[in-house]
Parts: sequence; C-alpha cells; structure tokens
Amino acid sequence: MLREIIIYPDKRLKQLSKPVEKFDQELHTLLDDMYETMIAKNGVGLAGIQIGVAKQVLIINIPIETDSQEPQKQQPKENTLEVINPRILEAEGKNRYQEGCLSVPGYFEEVERYKRVKVEYQDRYGNITIIDDDDFLAIALQHEMDHLGGRLFIERLSLLKRKKFEKEWKKRQKRKGK
Ligand SMILES: [Zn+2]
Repeated sequence: MLREIIIYPDKRLKQLSKPVEKFDQELHTLLDDMYETMIAKNGVGLAGIQIGVAKQVLIINIPIETDSQEPQKQQPKENTLEVINPRILEAEGKNRYQEGCLSVPGYFEEVERYKRVKVEYQDRYGNITIIDDDDFLAIALQHEMDHLGGRLFIERLSLLKRKKFEKEWKKRQKRKGK
C-alpha cells in the first residue's frame, strides 16, 4: 500500500524513532509499504518516520545499471536492504556527496559524511547482520540513520547554504499555495 510521505518542515520529521521489538507481520507490511512508496517516488532510500512511523526502520535500494528504462527492474524488491535498529560500530574518513531526500523534494546539495561505516542492524526477522561499506551505500546509510534521530540532510549544510535553502523553499511553498 502506498503511504503518504511527510514533507519538510513538518515537525513529525524531528521525532526520535524507537527501537523495533516485534519482528512480526505488522513490521513486514510496513517494510513492503515503504518499498512501494519509495519506488513510486523514485527514491533510493526511505526511513519509517518519513511516512509517519517513528520506528527504527529504514530501507535502501540502489538502482542497478541496466539498459532497461523500467524503474521497477532497476530497483527490484529483492535488492532492497532492510535495516532495523541500526547502530554504527565504526566510522572513518570523509566524503562529500550530492544528496536529496523524498521529504525535501527537488532539492539537492553536497553534504559531508564519513567515507566508511560499519553498521550492525537486524533484518525483518530479527537476525543480526553487519554491513561494512565505503561507497554510496555508506552515504545512504548515514542519511537514513539521521532520519531515525530526527535529523534531515539540510541540517548538515553550512549556515550560508542553509539560509539560501530556507529562502528558496519558502518561495517555492508560496508558489504552490497559489
Ligand atoms: Zn531523507
């Protein structure tokens, strides 16, 4: 089922997400809905709080490069990384990457993150897994984990860029309101 994505500056995005305790059907439905919603909006990652569920749940699906133009095929469901109750075990280096967010649609800006992270998390059945990455997945994990802490990527911008963003965003909201 498609869910509605919460858009900045909605205060719900600032909520702290709580750890998942039950790895039941309700969680699986949530994960399936999150995949459907993310694909419908052409996203590569989504956190529970972005659809109003303050649980430590996030998904990432990095498109595979194919000749096919069909988005469903480029992000098949079986490639979805489902991350529950994540915590960073190790982090090192620095990297800059142009990020976007389904809760801040149409805005992209470079953000500094750790280059490499080692993250422990649980899958949809509660099995503990470790992921270690120093590429785009590491960036995506940090972006989505920020959501679980009530933080958006625009909060990591320099003061100047942040001010510029707020101005542009307000203008855009006004245009939409007309
Ligand atoms: Zn985001």
